[in-house]
Amino acid sequence: MSLFEHHEFDNHKEVVFCNDEKSGLKAIIAVHNTNLGPSLGGCRMFPYANSGEALTDVLRLSKGMTYKAAMANLNQGGGKAVIIGDPRTQKSRDMFLALGDFIERLGGDYITAEDSGVAVSDLHATAERTQYVSGIKAKFTYDGSPADGNPAPGTAYGVFVGLKTTVEYALHSSLDGVKVAIQGLGHVGYRLAKHLRDAGAELYVTDIFPEQLEKAREELGATVVQPNDIYGLDVDVFAPCALGAILNDNTIPQIKAKVIAGAANNQLAREALGSVLRSKGICYAPDYVINAGGIIDIYHQTQDGTPDDLRKHLESIGDTLREIYIRADETDQANNLVANVIAEERFNK
Ligand code: NAD
Repeated sequence: MSLFEHHEFDNHKEVVFCNDEKSGLKAIIAVHNTNLGPSLGGCRMFPYANSGEALTDVLRLSKGMTYKAAMANLNQGGGKAVIIGDPRTQKSRDMFLALGDFIERLGGDYITAEDSGVAVSDLHATAERTQYVSGIKAKFTYDGSPADGNPAPGTAYGVFVGLKTTVEYALHSSLDGVKVAIQGLGHVGYRLAKHLRDAGAELYVTDIFPEQLEKAREELGATVVQPNDIYGLDVDVFAPCALGAILNDNTIPQIKAKVIAGAANNQLAREALGSVLRSKGICYAPDYVINAGGIIDIYHQTQDGTPDDLRKHLESIGDTLREIYIRADETDQANNLVANVIAEERFNK
């Protein structure tokens, strides 16, 4: 297994292999870039088949965090940690304590947070050994409602603002009467649906869980459709809020919406499909820009600001998207590629 020659290696600043024999912790921490500030990124626990798979994941994800932080106007860089193991059967408190020791040794270059397979309760142990843990103490929410540490409300509000901006830019319209198809009514999707309903949008929704759909029909007056029918609807906006890689060779030809704006991570099956969307006249909101509300929320929980500061920061997602769309039109390039270029300009300067 090589590192500097690895296909996902991108000038990463530090890559640390962590092995704690006593607790059984086997983890990799990757710090991609700290030009704008300490690297921030969640810790994921997953039963990787081998350390090569874990390395590929942590190199890719930490790089993604650098771009995300830069586009979210955060004075932070990108990092990530992965623990090799099954979160359902192989977790222990000692493991998360040991992880804290490794993070502390990095002297603040990497700040961890929760990610899939790792709960806030796990990170309470990590925080006994290092100060470099975020997202475990919630102080406030952007709208003043009680804070429980869940970043989904911030993410949903950021996606709502971003979707509204994209509709204004691409369709020259407010949200009133605009038809939006939402894929996935989970923590983010359901909250997004509520914001959209309040703004007068007409909702079409799908999920694989019938309870959520019933609730959306009753509470929000949404039209429920089958999961496979969501792509081809005659709507203005498609909002993917469930799965990655859902913009692919199979789904893109079905899509009639002229705006794609949603919360899901890694929506494009491959980067080149951004140009396909542009050639079809579809305005795509780059996923890592529009769904940055969660990381913005977590950042503000570590600051001495106010709910209003957080709300304004979330609303800046709209300004960033507009900057991307204007540059994309000026240069006739895909929105996702322009987003990457602007991010690189920000963290390389
Ligand atoms: P979630 O698990 O709460 O919700 C996902 C929903 O999608 C669930 O209701 C699930 O039943 C549904 N779903 C799964 N497969 C589906 C399918 N084939 N068709 C239709 N629906 C399907 O997750 P979430 O926290 O709401 O996050 C949604 C997306 O946004 C994920 O891709 C996540 O990575 C991304 N995201 C979330 C946050 C956050 O703050 N929670 C932040 C950034 C990005």
